Amino acid sequence: MKFNILSIFPDIFASYLDESILKRAQEKKIIKIKIHNLRDWTKDKHHSVDDTPYSGGAGMLMKIEPLYHALQDIQKLNKKKKNHKKKIILLSAAGQKWSQSLAKKYSKLDEIILICGHYEGVDARIKNFIDEEISIGDYVLTGGELPALVIIDSISRLLTGVLGNKKSIIEESHSEPGLLEYPQYTRPEIFITPQKKYRVPKVLLSGNHQKIQDWKKKHQKIIKTKS
Ligand code: SAM
Repeated sequence: MKFNILSIFPDIFASYLDESILKRAQEKKIIKIKIHNLRDWTKDKHHSVDDTPYSGGAGMLMKIEPLYHALQDIQKLNKKKKNHKKKIILLSAAGQKWSQSLAKKYSKLDEIILICGHYEGVDARIKNFIDEEISIGDYVLTGGELPALVIIDSISRLLTGVLGNKKSIIEESHSEPGLLEYPQYTRPEIFITPQKKYRVPKVLLSGNHQKIQDWKKKHQKIIKTKS
């Protein structure tokens, strides 16, 4: 699966993408991530990507032209591929809320283009050239770079071969809408602080498979969710 990121801060991504599971997923060629600097599609000598909004208002808006030309060029690369499943996503605090079920749905795509807004956002005419606006939560961030990483991370770990153990994505939180994972413990069996001893629940040490399953089921939380 290919991710194209369009950003005016392309250097933000390396430290996250070049570590751990996502680094290995790229080495194994399960995912390919290309980061594009939006300024490469500007034509003026200052490489401006933003301007003041019509009708006033606080801050600057990202201009439509560089984004349009960038999208045109990026899409040219896979135009000839048959049945190529692709989505263009604008990261936006006003978009549809990201969820595990959307991550599952989008993990079936071949390519996602992620547009990271900045400043006060993007000229609204961008809506003519995208498939979706996605929000990662009801709060406002300074830019779409973190949301782009959230989307790439949550999709990538669902792709075959990315996680070492296939079971990891079956029993975890949100694998079914609203279901949260049971508590888990590792060594030591008794964790001792000056005030108190913290023990692992006895049943988990019992070796009784049925009892352990019953305990896990009992301790899974269920929350209300729309999806
Ligand atoms: N003026 C915008 C508004 O009221 O919705 C907020 C702009 S925000 C400061 C700058 C950029 O950060 C947005 O264009 C978007 O790309 C990104 N962003 C901020 N919060 C986000 C969120 N919750 N989910 C996804 N993207 C977000």
